[in-house]
Amino acid sequence: MNELLRVQNLRVHFPVRHGLFGRSGAVVKAVDDVSFTIAAGETVGLVGESGCGKSTLGRAVIRLIPPTSGTIQFEGLDLLTLSKDKLRAQRRNFQMIFQDPFSTLNPRTTVGQIIGEALEIHELAPDRASRLDRIGQLLEQVGLERAHAQRYPHEFSGGQRQRIGIARALAVQPRLIVCDEPVSALDVSVQAQVVNLLQDLQAELGLAYLFIAHDLAVVEHISRRILVMYLGKIVESGPAEAVIGDPRHPYTKALISAAPSIRKNGKARLVLGGELPSPIEPPAGCPFHPRCPLAQEVCRVERPVHKDISDSRSVACHFA
Ligand code: SF4
Repeated sequence: MNELLRVQNLRVHFPVRHGLFGRSGAVVKAVDDVSFTIAAGETVGLVGESGCGKSTLGRAVIRLIPPTSGTIQFEGLDLLTLSKDKLRAQRRNFQMIFQDPFSTLNPRTTVGQIIGEALEIHELAPDRASRLDRIGQLLEQVGLERAHAQRYPHEFSGGQRQRIGIARALAVQPRLIVCDEPVSALDVSVQAQVVNLLQDLQAELGLAYLFIAHDLAVVEHISRRILVMYLGKIVESGPAEAVIGDPRHPYTKALISAAPSIRKNGKARLVLGGELPSPIEPPAGCPFHPRCPLAQEVCRVERPVHKDISDSRSVACHFA
């Protein structure tokens, strides 16, 4: 598979502002030294608890948030050193689908206008007739009707709104879509329909997805590879089947233990206690050590580095 995206040593740190002068000197390390790749047409799942930095990573990858350091290469082009004009031209290659499409759909514009706006900005339809035809095509492609172009977002169900969000993303013919918890707000039956739609579109259009979710069952279903994130860092990565079937990092084991639908019979449960620590003051040593039932003295003082446990798998744990 051809490599589409290469992220290396990416950091997104935010200064913490409070007090009289709005500065405290403290820093939130939302994304801390993250590296991964996505091939053309591939789905990579990104899992972890709420607040672990998944969404920030997804937004940084497509330059909605400026990274602090690192590199992001899209088809070999370094997105962090591109001029504004060149970055704008590249933007149509990567799009985002959000958890709550309603909050990103302007309630005062019709669905046709919402989708048509992207076509206009990127000059993808030369005249009104071709724009209307393309809007109709896109609506049909996501399982809606051409006539829906005349309606407003509030006239649709949650699943239909997500389809509108997908049609808007598809309008610019992207190569990569960051899907940020795209089904978490939907009923279970509707979740399956939207996931199936994403898979059909991938097969038809050769799209790559970075699929962000806290639900491991959904991620396992759709992903070829999985990245497990904890407190701003990737702690385990590998093929979906291997990561779910034979997790090596205690945090991955705990996530699987907490997901009854994918927990394999006979495997010992590893219960995750406590809360995700603050990324402002991450624990010394292994950031997972305060919650890890397998922690030893070395874990409190020494940060584990990533170890390759096979050609395609990597784990950051002293004892993996
Ligand atoms: Fe647990 Fe230690 Fe491994 Fe961290 S390095 S996950 S604390 S065993």
